[in-house]
Amino acid sequence: MSDDIALSRAEVDAGIVRCDACPVLCRIRPGKSGACDRYANESGKLVRVDPLVLLERSEAPRVPFAEGAETWDGALGRGAFVTGIGATTTYPDYKPAPFIVSSRIDNVDMVTVVTEGIFSYCGVKVKIDSDRFLGPEQAAVRVRGEQVGHVTTAEYGSQMLSLGGVRHFTGGSKKEGVATCDTLLALCNREPVELAIDQGAAVVVQAGRAPVVNGTHEERMRVGCGSAAIGMFAPQWHGHVDEVIVVDDHITGVLSEHQGGRFLDMKPAGIRVRGRKSTPGRYFQVAEPGLGWGGTDVHDPLQIIEKIDPRVAWPGLKLLMVSTTGEHAAWYVLDQSLRPIEAEMPDAVRKVVERIAENCEPALCTVMFMAGAGGSLRAGVTENPVRLTRSVKDALTRVTCGGAPAYIWPGGGITLMVDVTRMPEKSFGYVPTPALVAPIEFTLRRDDYAALGGYAERAVALEDVLRSGKLETRAWPAAPSATGS
Ligand code: SF4
Repeated sequence: MSDDIALSRAEVDAGIVRCDACPVLCRIRPGKSGACDRYANESGKLVRVDPLVLLERSEAPRVPFAEGAETWDGALGRGAFVTGIGATTTYPDYKPAPFIVSSRIDNVDMVTVVTEGIFSYCGVKVKIDSDRFLGPEQAAVRVRGEQVGHVTTAEYGSQMLSLGGVRHFTGGSKKEGVATCDTLLALCNREPVELAIDQGAAVVVQAGRAPVVNGTHEERMRVGCGSAAIGMFAPQWHGHVDEVIVVDDHITGVLSEHQGGRFLDMKPAGIRVRGRKSTPGRYFQVAEPGLGWGGTDVHDPLQIIEKIDPRVAWPGLKLLMVSTTGEHAAWYVLDQSLRPIEAEMPDAVRKVVERIAENCEPALCTVMFMAGAGGSLRAGVTENPVRLTRSVKDALTRVTCGGAPAYIWPGGGITLMVDVTRMPEKSFGYVPTPALVAPIEFTLRRDDYAALGGYAERAVALEDVLRSGKLETRAWPAAPSATGS
């Protein structure tokens, strides 16, 4: 041990222990914990505060956590899985992973290499099911005034944020790094976080829950764009309306011009909406983005009507205007001067508006943790790190985070992405460098592990892990529900 790591004689006499599980190298006094609260000094011994988490299938018996248990006297059913949660780490990474667990599955000898990874290169991609305008693409996303990420390309029915990443951890001020770390930790542990977007909205994001935009709970994810809504519901409107305009920030649909209306032999209605015509019945940029109808800034839908052609339209023409979620809808009849006059919506039309709403899915926030595990962490798995990367790419090694399946990006490295709602609660920790701590497990055949230069001789049976100290058994998290509750 080098001098700057070694404790002084006085520190040793005072019962202080040194934690070397991350570069912070805390000196921890008896009865106290280190800066991350994950390690503590218990009677002069460095201990991991949290128990090692095992997952069990729900049909197997559950065994409660026995704090301080020296031996395991519970029973575990087939299918128990040792996660990296509470496992301790490989840092400074040439140490073999803390748990290399052998098992036999369908007569094949397997090993699972279990560790807690310290990720400086990590972030989250947040999908927010909402049409509402959260902020312009590339706008800064802030917490406590610090930029922690930005608005990125919107997806179908969802606004997307990209938060964290090494530049916010290391490339700005210390405050920015700390705010980024706090934000990622809370989001990954499924806690609510309020994000402020430059030139946009304040949004509360919580994994698996509905977003709250400027204080309003989002309920529905739109059924589709305005053009798609026309395509889906045109036959149901036919015979009850002369025109339908589905207001959408991206693609506003106009039924009588749209292919959907043409197939139904609808006659032109002569109502021209604002914006740029893309193809028949499909208009872009009918308004500015906002918090109104269909993700536009429109609160009175008539604002998007540019003109009504007196050579084509007729008094008594029946017009429905509706948003892509069915949340907003209005019924108009043209008077003798061809002015749209709002009227009571007929039941047959209202039913179709309600069907739009019925076909919307609940609006949710999805938080995907994304990190690079292709660096030094691999040295805790094998003496020849690139072989682990190849093994993952060849699908010989399965990567999980807290038991949840991780998607591995093609190309170089082990760049993984995982849905935090599929991981056990409170799977994540942090260190003040700053960086996030996340569980990671590599599972492969024992002979493949030996072939890639792994520490196969260190593999221990599950029963030995169970005897190793503090344990907590949890049920495998259920697959994500679409209820949002
Ligand atoms: S921050 Fe945590 S992991 Fe890092 S040295 Fe201190 S106690 Fe150990």
